[in-house]
Amino acid sequence: MRSAAAYCDYDNYQPHFLDSCFLCHRPLNHNTDIFMYRGNTPFCSQECRQEQIEMDEEVERRWKVSSSSKRSNRQTSSDPAKESDTNKAVRTGTVAVA
Ligand SMILES: [Zn+2]
Repeated sequence: MRSAAAYCDYDNYQPHFLDSCFLCHRPLNHNTDIFMYRGNTPFCSQECRQEQIEMDEEVERRWKVSSSSKRSNRQTSSDPAKESDTNKAVRTGTVAVA
């Protein structure tokens, strides 16, 4: 049962790369132009490809920004540390009062 499901997933996982647009998933006909990007990513139109290029550029830009300002990017991971600091302070205060 398990392996059957896994096989099914695996089957679904394999995208038919040159059969549909990477962005809008419109089927690509063999008699229409296919716009390739980065070697193996097909698009139905220049617009779709351009959109993907712009998205990629934005992701790259964000990566550069996040790597240059790690502090603001680690807000979630600094929260637990803050919490434990608060706990410590409360405990110490309690001890001091007692
Ligand atoms: Zn498209």
